[in-house]
Amino acid sequence: MKTVGHLINGQLVEHESCVQDVFNPATGEPSKQVSLATKSTVEEAISCAQAAYPAWRNTPPIKRARIMFRFKSLLEEHAERICKLVGEEHGKVRHDAAGELQRAIENVEFACGIPELLKGEHTKNVAEQIDSWSEFHPLGVVAGITPFNFPVMVPMWMFPLAIACGNTFILKPSERVPSATLYVANLLHEAGLPDGVLNVVNGDKETVDVLLSDKRIKAISFVGSTPIAQSIYTAACLHGKRCQALGGAKNHAVLMPDADIDNAVNQLLGAAFGSSGERCMALSVVVAVGDSVADSLVKKMCNEMQKLKVGAYDDNGNDFGPVISQAHKQKVLGYIDSAEADGATVVVDGRNVSVSGYEKGFFVGATLLDHVTTDMQSYQKEIFGPVMQVVRVQSMEDAITLIDNHEYGNGTCVFTRDGEAARYFSDNIEVGMVGINVPLPVPVAYHSFGGWKHSLFGDLHAYGPDGVKFYTKRKTITQRWPSSGVREGVSFSFPS
Ligand code: NAD
Repeated sequence: MKTVGHLINGQLVEHESCVQDVFNPATGEPSKQVSLATKSTVEEAISCAQAAYPAWRNTPPIKRARIMFRFKSLLEEHAERICKLVGEEHGKVRHDAAGELQRAIENVEFACGIPELLKGEHTKNVAEQIDSWSEFHPLGVVAGITPFNFPVMVPMWMFPLAIACGNTFILKPSERVPSATLYVANLLHEAGLPDGVLNVVNGDKETVDVLLSDKRIKAISFVGSTPIAQSIYTAACLHGKRCQALGGAKNHAVLMPDADIDNAVNQLLGAAFGSSGERCMALSVVVAVGDSVADSLVKKMCNEMQKLKVGAYDDNGNDFGPVISQAHKQKVLGYIDSAEADGATVVVDGRNVSVSGYEKGFFVGATLLDHVTTDMQSYQKEIFGPVMQVVRVQSMEDAITLIDNHEYGNGTCVFTRDGEAARYFSDNIEVGMVGINVPLPVPVAYHSFGGWKHSLFGDLHAYGPDGVKFYTKRKTITQRWPSSGVREGVSFSFPS
């Protein structure tokens, strides 16, 4: 069986005795193994990144940008291969992997503008013959730790921009989906990136612990589940590192009585079940305002859900694929069982789905639960599967209170035809990303992505303008060149 190794100093290496199986979720069988980096492998990667830093830091931003332009072309040229690797290990269908790749490329396009983004600020004559300016310096060696659900896009929220800013980078992808990430990192080298600037170490907690404690790592970007995000943020801060740690989610869509329900149903199908619900922006709860709205929604959803096709990644006619693992499948099924036991109505039941030719695959069918209440485990926890839950309330105020009381605050959306209500909702809701008749309000690459509450630990959101701030530190210089022979007198106070 093939073993996926690491990318250190521009070379593919594989020196671990410790490996872990990588599964194809459609077949339910292991298809590869991945090396788990030990302390010495991670330290070697950090040493290479540190050695590459001085030259890379001093490489003109326009030259760094040119590498990013070539990288973008290579990503487009090799799109088929990348989507296949994503499908084989993550399970998402080709069309969904292509969407992920497109969003990843948009982050490279943003990084191509780095000369403009790093221009800094300048003021002539802050006092007589004194000029002042701010420069944005890279931090040094920085690291990224990424989740399984976007093997290409989430790593590329991080490393293109961090590298364009002049940092060198250690990436620790999810050990469950290592191949596509390693493949795109290789393409960046093909685009002309010098050795050591981007290093990829595969691994698990042991690998991450080295990144957290090593003094040479100046900042950590993390994306994953909330308990791990919180512990990474705490440990990184304890070690004096800058950290942004994006966590889990439970995203609510509010369906107002005046909404175009047919349109909302179409939007909700994709937003709830696309990628098997394994998206941090998946809309997994619909808060229906009024019982008649809820009844109409459930009836229409039920009809449309009969048409959904779940299956393997390589058939583009499928709407979504399997979940990531057998253990995760059991977890998702467990939440459906618990909701039913707690009194929710299972309107559409995806628990016993079987896909012909893929009987051992980790498939869960689209599931619809009605009459869900906020005390249920299935409501409180992130399910991360193809399960939509309907909660009934009587007013927008009730919907806002319910959403604000949830632990997570990643994304939300309101479906309405009333501009005033939409404005009130977006103004008052305690959530970081809001859609108005837009179910998945994922910010484009030149804005920034991040939730509130337990969906993000740290001050700055991911990518876009916040990404530039995160991966740089400000230096402000104040300058005077006295005319020769002119000497200033002594002063013990600020000039007034
Ligand atoms: P995860 O937290 O299990 O793993 C994320 C990363 O952390 C992986 O690289 C993993 O190897 C590493 N890791 C796991 N356990 C660790 C530990 N004890 N110590 C140190 N590192 C550890 O998450 P996942 O299952 O891969 O991804 C799904 C989760 O990610 C969901 O909760 C989802 O909402 C979240 N997510 C959030 C966003 C966002 O932008 N907020 C985006 C994508 C995914």
